[in-house]
Amino acid sequence: MNDLIKEMFLKVSPTPMVENNLSDSEKKHIIEEHFKVIMETLGLDLADDSLKDTPKRVAKMFVEEIFYGLDEKKFPKMTVVENKFKYDHPLIETNIVTNSCCEHHFVPILGRTHVAYKPGDKVIGLSKLNRIVDYFARRPQVQERLTMQIHEALCHMLQTQDVAVVIDGMHACVKTRGIKDATSLTRTSKLSGVFFQDSLFRQEFLSSIPRANEIHI
Ligand SMILES: [Zn+2]
Repeated sequence: MNDLIKEMFLKVSPTPMVENNLSDSEKKHIIEEHFKVIMETLGLDLADDSLKDTPKRVAKMFVEEIFYGLDEKKFPKMTVVENKFKYDHPLIETNIVTNSCCEHHFVPILGRTHVAYKPGDKVIGLSKLNRIVDYFARRPQVQERLTMQIHEALCHMLQTQDVAVVIDGMHACVKTRGIKDATSLTRTSKLSGVFFQDSLFRQEFLSSIPRANEIHI
């Protein structure tokens, strides 16, 4: 992990965690054993062909896929380069697929993230924006914290406060249980620097992203 990324983790809003030194294979083993107990408690037959490998699959999915973003060592490789073109207008990327997980219910939050920045001295590859969004999404989350973490990470990596982040999220815990609202979406945003202070920059960003009711997840 390079110094820029190490410093970033000190600045980004923390996900509540306690230290453990378990390896990925130890984590998978423990989760597998406990998930077996959950399934047995629900009365499921773990001898059934279709169910017998589910605890293993869930453990692998938790550690390697949907919660890989809890491991700082798995932050995407990132090369920040000089803004040689002196490009100084907004760079806006919309509709970044955002697959996360509600930390209150452990069911999906599916969404789209829209980001913008006005480059200062540094730029990063476009796909790195997607990778930063995905990394922080792959944690148990609340959408507000996810928004802040992406915003803070981008400000740090790009060395500017001229950054904007909007997330439109569909929360499975709202859609499929509890209130069972099948159509509501939740929008969160964090705008700073010129995107907060300058109405022209703010308008250019907000008019470039889909309206909340145009998002189909
Ligand atoms: Zn929830």
